[in-house]
Amino acid sequence: DLAPMRRALISVSDKTGLIDLAAALVERGVEILSTGGSAKALRDAGIDVRDVSDVTGFPEMMDGRVKTLHPKVHGGLLALRDNDDHVAAMEAHDIGAIDLLVVNLYPFEETVAKGADYDTCIENIDIGGPAMIRAAAKNHAFVNVIVDIADYTALLHELDQNGGQTSFQFRRRLAQIAYARTGAYDAAVSTWMADAMEEQNPRRRAFAGHLAQPLRYGENPHQRAAFYVDGSNRPGVATAEQLQGKELSYNNINDTDAAFELVSEFDPADGPACAIIKHANPCGVARGASLQDAYQKAFDCDRTSAFGGIVALNQRLDKATAEQIVEIFTEVVIAPGADDDAIAVFAAKKNLRLLTTTGLANTRETGLAYRQVSGGMLVQDRDSGFIGMDDLKVVTKKAPTDAQMRDLLFAWKVAKHVKSNAIVYVNGGATVGVGAGQMSRVDSALIAAKKAERMAEAMGLDAPLTQGSAVASDAFFPFADGLMEAAGAGASCVIQPGGSMRDDEVIAAADEAGLAMVFTGMRHFRH
Ligand code: 5GP
Repeated sequence: DLAPMRRALISVSDKTGLIDLAAALVERGVEILSTGGSAKALRDAGIDVRDVSDVTGFPEMMDGRVKTLHPKVHGGLLALRDNDDHVAAMEAHDIGAIDLLVVNLYPFEETVAKGADYDTCIENIDIGGPAMIRAAAKNHAFVNVIVDIADYTALLHELDQNGGQTSFQFRRRLAQIAYARTGAYDAAVSTWMADAMEEQNPRRRAFAGHLAQPLRYGENPHQRAAFYVDGSNRPGVATAEQLQGKELSYNNINDTDAAFELVSEFDPADGPACAIIKHANPCGVARGASLQDAYQKAFDCDRTSAFGGIVALNQRLDKATAEQIVEIFTEVVIAPGADDDAIAVFAAKKNLRLLTTTGLANTRETGLAYRQVSGGMLVQDRDSGFIGMDDLKVVTKKAPTDAQMRDLLFAWKVAKHVKSNAIVYVNGGATVGVGAGQMSRVDSALIAAKKAERMAEAMGLDAPLTQGSAVASDAFFPFADGLMEAAGAGASCVIQPGGSMRDDEVIAAADEAGLAMVFTGMRHFRH
């Protein structure tokens, strides 16, 4: 058991809670050492404090780059109090033990997020703070280190429960939190530099992220979970503002991200678009004459699955669309803005979560995507691959008409966001059948066509809307069977990467069935 706490060093950029903490420590007989701005704030509040520069015999210099980097500070943090040599060194050099370190770092992540210039970001890389945090955390056998304002109360509570000191378990927990903070901090710096160089090499990266929100649970109620954001400030679910509704769940965040990334494929300059997502797969995507029309067409692709879905829009939510959306139960709506009268429509639906973003995601932006595997992590470039009209190669006797071409490219954009094997039927700027996540491409084609049949029945149509549709396949057809399934469902044209050993066979089958087919030369697996 340690003797009661006697000295604390406090050096904080964010002064929230500082005065109360220091006052409580002084009340408990703890001497306070502090750096420039922190010391001034304490003195102004009438709290007795000693300057670190007084301890080190050095002024703070070089715009604060050097404040606490001194053996009198680091010796006081690192010395083992039960080691004779260490104790002798402390005595020989007049180093006083520091029992508690309270630091929060220069706000580097916030500075970057604000879009500050290069030099300002550089000046906001804290050097002395992380050095002290790491020193104190290493020596948690004797030293307490607090890096999060949220832990001030727990510290005081622990001191009162433990006769003016903390337990080893408590200090070790603080040390673990401290290293998480310095690790994330340096990762943020590295990530910012990579961004500044526009170099997103997956092979030399650290992982940045800070806790944005502890989640009630994970994918299932027995899994704990939290949401970390990387500070990159991109429009999307991580930076969206929640205007109303229940707290987002783990699955909501995952699905909302999928919905928003997909709808962001559709340039608002080309008109309104809507994507409805369930379990990270689209159950309907459409353009429309109005936003409401786009929603309705997306909804009509698969009305059954759309229930409890996530709706993403590529334009500000308006009143008419909001009124349409509240007709059924929807989990989340995300859009780049919302009109006041649309917000008013949602107000009656207390649970419906409404998120607004600062714009659409840039789906062509480079960046990294991570996936965890047992014992490791896979890192790759985001799938920002894009295919335009000029990249397509017509491989059949028939070439697609302009209208078919538009639907083919539409289907291709959607297929990129559907779990493989993906088959997507599109007719007139709206999906009419989506086959997702099947282990066989033939099954995906079949399921999508079946869904279209079911919708045709429900809507009282003579024939399913796959008749005369454009069909996209996220990867090549290895055999002609998948293609024939699509032809059987009434598809009139096909878009697919090509590149199969049996391309000739597949092209011949397409010709035979009277289909027009284009190759993209690019695959969009999504596993
Ligand atoms: P203050 O407002 O008290 O003047 O400064 C507090 C900030 O300075 C804290 O965020 C702390 O991490 C940081 N800091 C403490 N020592 C040093 C140092 O030697 N160099 C740098 N760059 N920052 C330091």
